[in-house]
Amino acid sequence: MVILWMKKELEALDHASMERRLRIHIPIPESPGYVMHGGRALLDLSSNDYLGLAQHPAIIEAMRAALLKEGVGAGASRLVTGNRQPYAQLEKALAAWQNCDAALVFANGYIANVGVISALVGRGDVVFSDQLNHASIVDGIILSRAEHARYRHNDMEHLRALLHKFRDKRRKLIVTDAVFSMDGDQARLHDLIALKREFNALLMVDEAHSGGVYGPRGEGLTFALGVKNDVDIHMGTLSKSFGIYGAYVCGSETLIRWLMNKARPLIYSTALPPSLIAGAVQALKLIQTEHWRRKRLFAASEFFRSSLCEAGFNIGNGDSAIVPLVLGHNHKALQFSSALENEGIAAIAIRPPTVPEGTARIRFSLSAAHSLEELADAVTKICRLGLQLGVLES
Ligand SMILES: *Cc1c(COP(=O)(O)O)cnc(C)c1O
Repeated sequence: MVILWMKKELEALDHASMERRLRIHIPIPESPGYVMHGGRALLDLSSNDYLGLAQHPAIIEAMRAALLKEGVGAGASRLVTGNRQPYAQLEKALAAWQNCDAALVFANGYIANVGVISALVGRGDVVFSDQLNHASIVDGIILSRAEHARYRHNDMEHLRALLHKFRDKRRKLIVTDAVFSMDGDQARLHDLIALKREFNALLMVDEAHSGGVYGPRGEGLTFALGVKNDVDIHMGTLSKSFGIYGAYVCGSETLIRWLMNKARPLIYSTALPPSLIAGAVQALKLIQTEHWRRKRLFAASEFFRSSLCEAGFNIGNGDSAIVPLVLGHNHKALQFSSALENEGIAAIAIRPPTVPEGTARIRFSLSAAHSLEELADAVTKICRLGLQLGVLES
C-alpha cells in the first residue's frame, strides 16, 4: 500500500536536497576518531565524542562487569523495581561533581529536556527560549503547553522586551543551550542571570556540548564562568563527552524531588540498562581526572578554527569544538560533504529544519581523539575543496 501524500512529500524533500537517509558507519576500536564507511576508514569530524571516550577500555570493562551482574535490562521504570544500584552511585557522583544537592538521570538529553520543561511549566506559564536552542527544548515547551517566547539568538534586548511583555505570567522559565549545537557559540550567561533575577524567572542551562569540556574537571560552562550557583536547572548529557548514552539534571534537593514526581518520561518509561549507568560512573571518573583530554580537545579546536578562518572560510564566531562551515544552499552542503568523503573525511551536511533556511552547513566537531597532524591534513583538503567548489575565492 503506497501512501500517496507521503510519497509526494518525500519526493519534494528529495528534490530540495532535504531528504535524510541513514548510512552505516562502523567504529574502528584501534583507531578512535575514525569510522569505516563504504569500506574505507574516514576521519570522523562529525561525532560528539569530544573526549574520545566512546572506545575507552575501562568503560567497556565497567559495562561488561555490570552486564554480568545486573543483566541486560532494568525490567521496569525506576519508581517501580528498575532502580538498580549503579543509579545511586552515578547520581551521587554527578551531584558531587556538580557541587549541588542532587542529580537525576534521564534516558537521554532529548527526553531530559522534554521531561524537565513539561514538569516545570504548564498553561498560564511562559518559557523564554533562544531561537537556536536545541529541538528537544522546543518540543519540551510545546508539550508543556506554556507560552513559547522565542528570542532572537543571544539578543538580550529582545529577551528583555519579552520578559517585560509576559511579566504577569505565573511561572517564568528562561532556557538556553550553554554552547549552541549547530553554531558552536556560547550563551550570554552573565546577562541571562541578570535578567532572570530582575524578572524573577528560573534559568535552565543545557550543557550538552559543554559538559565534560569546560571547567577544571569538565563540570561545564557555568562552572568555568563561575556562575554555576546562579543557574536553577542544570542539564547535561551522557551521550556526548561521556561517550555513552543518557542524560542528567542537577539542582536543589527540592528540584530533584519535584522532577521525580512530575517528569513523565521518568515515571512512565523503563530505566536505562544498569550496565550503561555503570559505564557512565567510570566515564565520569575519567572526565574528572584525565585533564589531557580537554587540553587536546582545546588544542585541536583552536588549531582547526584558526586554520579555516585564516583560509577565508565563514565559520561564525564560536570558540568551541563545534566549527560550522556555513555554505547556504542545501545542495552545496551535500556536495561539499560528499567531496570530503571522497577525501577520507566524514563531515555530514546539516540542513533545515535543523538549522535556519539558507544556512545549510558542514558542522565539524572535534575530538581529543584527533591529532594535530590529522587535522592539518584535513584542513589542507578542506581548503582545496573550498577553492574547487567556489566556496573560497582564489
Ligand atoms: C544532543 C543534544 C541534546 C540531546 O541529547 P541526547 O542525549 O543525544 O538525546 C539536547 N540538547 C542539546 C543542546 C544537544 O546538542
